This record gives sequence, C-alpha cells and structure tokens, in this order.
Amino acid sequence: MKCTILSVGTELLFGSILNTNTAYLSQQMVQIGIDVMYHMTVGDNPQRLKEMIQHAYKDCDLIIATGGLGPTQDDLTKETIADVFGERVVPFPDQLAILQAHFKKYNRVMSDNNLKQANFPEHASILPNPNGTAPGFMLEKEEKLIISMPGPPNEMIPMFEQHVRPLLEQRSDGVLYYKTLRVMELGESMLETQVMDLIEAQTDPTLATYASNYESTLRIASKRKTRAEAEQAVEQMVALVRERIGPYIYSEEDESISSIVFRYLNEHRLTLSSAESCTGGSFAKAVTDRPGASAVFDRSIVTYSNRAKVEELGVSEETLSAHGAVSAEVAEEMARGIYEVSGSDIGISITGIAGPDGGSEEKPVGLVYIGLCIRGRVQSFRYQLRNSNRQSIRGNAVVHMFRVLYRELVIDK
Ligand code: AMP
Ligand code: MG
Repeated sequence: MKCTILSVGTELLFGSILNTNTAYLSQQMVQIGIDVMYHMTVGDNPQRLKEMIQHAYKDCDLIIATGGLGPTQDDLTKETIADVFGERVVPFPDQLAILQAHFKKYNRVMSDNNLKQANFPEHASILPNPNGTAPGFMLEKEEKLIISMPGPPNEMIPMFEQHVRPLLEQRSDGVLYYKTLRVMELGESMLETQVMDLIEAQTDPTLATYASNYESTLRIASKRKTRAEAEQAVEQMVALVRERIGPYIYSEEDESISSIVFRYLNEHRLTLSSAESCTGGSFAKAVTDRPGASAVFDRSIVTYSNRAKVEELGVSEETLSAHGAVSAEVAEEMARGIYEVSGSDIGISITGIAGPDGGSEEKPVGLVYIGLCIRGRVQSFRYQLRNSNRQSIRGNAVVHMFRVLYRELVIDK
C-alpha cells in the first residue's frame, strides 16, 4: 500500500506551528509497512486541497489527512473530500446526538457552525474522537481510501492509535521489521562510506543513515510476508554491517548513549556528580531529564569563572595560570574536586571553548577537555569538536561526556 500524508491548515504554511503530525504519521506508516510517497501541506483552500488529493491518488491508494475538520468557515476538508469522491455531505443523526449531548454536558450553547461537525460524506465511516468535538472519518471508493483526522495532536494521536492503526495493520500487504543501530565516533558520511556498497545494492532490506543529536544511526528495514522472514533478512544484514563497523556500534536497540550509561550506573549502584564550565549545566540537565535520576546523580556545580573553579572545586591557582582554564590539567583538577566535594563514586568535568570568540591557534573554538575521576583515579580526554556554532558545540560536548563515561565504565569493565 502506498500513501500520502496530507496536512491541511494555513497556519502550517505560515510556519506558525510545526507539522508534528506528519512526522508522527510517517513513523507509524513505516512501522506498519506502508510506503509513504509524499508529504503534502496545503492551506485552507478548497481548490488547492482538491488538486492535492487528486494528485496524491495518481500514485497512492491511501491518503491520511489531518486538519481542517473544525467548526469554522475555513475548515473545508470534509466538503472537499466529498467533492472529490462525488459524495453529498449529510448530517449523521448519531453524531448530532453525541454533539448535542456534549454541549449540554458542558452547558454551552451550540452554534450553527458546530452543527457542521455532525455532517459527513454520505458513505463515510466515523472515527470517534473522545478528546474533542470533531470526529474523524474514513471514506473508500474504487480502491482509494482516505482517512481524515482532526489537526490537534492530542486528538489525532489517540484516534489513530485506537481506530486507524489496527485497520491499516490488517490491510498492509507486508510486515515491516527494522533495527536501528546507533553508531559512535563515526560521522554520518564516514558511516555511509563504510556501508555504501550495501546501501547501493539495497532493495530489501533497506539501509538508511541518519544523523541526530550528534550521533549517527543506521536503520535496517525489511518488509516481507511474515515477521519471521523480515526479521531474518534484517539480522543477516545486521551481521554484514557488524563485520564492517562492529566496534563503532554501541546499541542495536536504538538506545541512546546517555540511557546506556544511566542504566549501567543504576545497575551498579554508582553515583555521579559533574563540574561544568563550558556546558553551563547542560550535562546536569541531560542527566536529570531522565526520570529516576536521583538514584544516581548527586550534583553538578557550574564553575564558569576561574575563581569559581578555585573556590568550589579546589583547582589550584598555579595550574590555572600555568596551563589556562581550558587544559587537561584543569579538567583533571575539576574532576577530582567534584569527586571529593560530592563524595560520589564518579566525578566528571568539562572545560572548553564554546565560542564564537575566545579561540586561539593553540586552543581553537570547539576544543574541550573532559576530566574523569573514578574512585579517586583521574584521567582526562581532549576533543576538538567541529566549530559550527556555540549551541551545537555545547550540545556535542555533553554527548562526549556520556561517551567518555560509556567507554571508561560500560566497555572498560
Ligand atoms: P484544525 O483541525 O485544522 O482546526 O487544526 C487545529 C489545530 O491543530 C491547529 O491550530 C494546530 O494547533 C493543530 N494542528 C493542525 N495540523 C497540525 C499538524 N500537521 N501538526 C501539528 N499540529 C497540527
Ligand atoms: Mg485548521
């Protein structure tokens, strides 16, 4: 089955809201094993909407539409779909009753506009909306199926999960199985080079590389008649990929590096604290974003100035003046300092140049030192991060802190 994801709403074209529905629905289609041919976004304009629907049906048998189902004048999706399918729009008595009951329950007066929400193309099947007043609907004619859902994600997602997904799974002409490998210290282009021949020769399984959050991932997917066949095809390909880049793969289950580190700390009942300079507390934020962080994380001290490094962590003035704040020596003293101050099993530190200013030939923007103190033993690591912009240097620096923990704790047991 081939599908188009169609978003309706002028606010999407203005960029006032981000089109998260399309991303969500595409991810769902991939899991179900339906090929997504197009993403289309159209404003609240019936003529262009009609043309988009007709265009989508040239290649696709399924359109999943969101938006334009509300009670206002600009919400014209239903009327337009009915027009394309040669249907009349008629009141559905059951839906009218539900709508009236809803308004009564909340003591609100129903306007004529609201009445529109009980109208549907005559042969539509209703998709109930427990989280709002606009139901969705499904309409099928001559092998062309359209599913139309409301725009707000908190209404669309439950509707999709409860009513649409089960139906599509039944109809999907195959079972998709995939694995997402997470790869470390191998940029997306390097990764692609290593597996290029496999990517070029692919039909099924398919291989695709993505870069996200300073990490590279490789997705291997197969669509076959049965899950067992798809799984076998994927596993064979995973084995081939493993031969090429095995040591760089840190997860075959799409688990992030921070999650792996966290799990390790939890399982080994180890506690962690951090001393941050250039990341300004982002490492602590990343750690504490995870539920249950309190079991492993004690504190982070943001020591931005030299004075703070001295006062809070006991970094020596001599080390600072001899080597500068961005140095292996200072990173190590920071790590030892936080380890001692916190009494945690592990102290990690970072000092670096996030830019855009402050770089020099010897210490360019993007240079970071990460210090690590595990049960009193101190080490440091130097990284030259790509100088893209301040925000991404800082984000990337945090990922590198997790990598250090991963390498020194999880693999280096
Ligand atoms: P509508 O069903 O067209 O009345 O949409 C109502 C609201 O749903 C919009 O104002 C947005 O807040 C949200 N919405 C509509 N389409 C999308 C979309 N594609 N992605 C995320 N939110 C959306
Ligand atoms: Mg709208």
